[in-house]
Amino acid sequence: MKYPIPRGTYDILPDQSYKWQYLIRRFQDIAASFGYHEINTPIFEVSALFERSSGESSDVVQKEMYRFTDRRGREFALRPEGTAPVVRSFVENSMDKDGAKTKLFYVGPMFRYDRPQAGRYRQFWQYGIEFFGAQHPFYDAEVIALLWQYLKGLGLSKIELRINSVGSPQCWEAYEKVLKEYYRPHLPQLCADCQTRFEIKPKRLLDCKVPSCRTIAQDAPSQLDHLDEESRQHFAEVQGHLNAAGVPYIIDPHIVRGLDYYSHTAFEVVFDGLGAQNTLAGGGRYNYLVEQIGGKSTPAIGFAGGFERLILALESEGIQIGKPLIPDIYAIAMGAEAQEALIPLIYDLRRELVSVEYDPTKTSFKAQMKAANHSQARFALIIGEDELASGSVILKDLETGEQVSLSSKDIDAIRGAVISK
Ligand code: AMP
Repeated sequence: MKYPIPRGTYDILPDQSYKWQYLIRRFQDIAASFGYHEINTPIFEVSALFERSSGESSDVVQKEMYRFTDRRGREFALRPEGTAPVVRSFVENSMDKDGAKTKLFYVGPMFRYDRPQAGRYRQFWQYGIEFFGAQHPFYDAEVIALLWQYLKGLGLSKIELRINSVGSPQCWEAYEKVLKEYYRPHLPQLCADCQTRFEIKPKRLLDCKVPSCRTIAQDAPSQLDHLDEESRQHFAEVQGHLNAAGVPYIIDPHIVRGLDYYSHTAFEVVFDGLGAQNTLAGGGRYNYLVEQIGGKSTPAIGFAGGFERLILALESEGIQIGKPLIPDIYAIAMGAEAQEALIPLIYDLRRELVSVEYDPTKTSFKAQMKAANHSQARFALIIGEDELASGSVILKDLETGEQVSLSSKDIDAIRGAVISK
């Protein structure tokens, strides 16, 4: 192949695209039922936006950003995640009004220069939501419930919701001190990344995926034992609201999330059976990000999930989603005059969103019937000499073999017969 597809990317081919359409539509529907509005931001932003929001030391900024300079030397990056762009837009479009509650969702591709493997790509698609304007724990639970309903509603059973509280800035310093004390004697056994994390972001030591680091993390002191009173109460109330919403969860003190901007609630949904890349979605509260990006101080919470891993999880549970495109009707004409009558009729039906397939390069009845069967269309619509003479069509049900004669002018009747099946 002369021009191969870039490493870590993939084409969504026709035999897969209907599944994507289905997953996106379901997410849009669920989001709408929770009162969320769609927002679409550009695929690139100034790189400083991500440096400021994710934290200079985060993996995303250090190693994974696709950066480029434009012709005037301005620094941009392909968006590695959706939250910072949505917050940028929220501030830029003055949505940060006192007391306003804003519910936004997005769907689109993200880009990270990471080592590709099963469930990890360099261009991947995320669905996500962001809620702005309240600190009330009801909203933490509502955001989590939306994610849970989406994934559960698709039929997944091997999923688990894990929640944690990472507390507020008031309790971070004391906790980091305790954490470093615990880790100091283990320093030589930590992976190279963790050696750096120890110095700049000790909390990240907790979610390292390297097996030897995981073992050490198991006995690490938990943030939950070092929460201030307000954080403790908030977390307890979030759990109460999750119970009320009927969302099952387990408390996992190792959920800290990769980015700097989280406080209070952090959560992930993991799937049992995807190997190392088993997190389907994750999110948390980020009460300080809007202000950091230049807006009014606004509490917020959100999540993002990846469609690729979701599809892998659905496949591993044998769950079929969506329906491949099959035409409603395969149209057949016997002879040039019949074809002349048939073609306008095909367009009339398509105007009514009846899907019709027709191939004028096949002329014999046998070849057209064969193509009709091959297309899996439920109906064949046939115009032969007799039909031409009487201004009618034959609508043949290819499953039962039954056929009816209908007026070729009566689009409603043809459409009605098709959609009733
Ligand atoms: P994050 O923004 O890192 O919290 O990721 C949220 C979700 O996006 C993850 O749980 C994955 O489902 C998905 N995701 C993140 N990075 C990738 C990637 N490189 N390839 C595919 N999916 C990803």
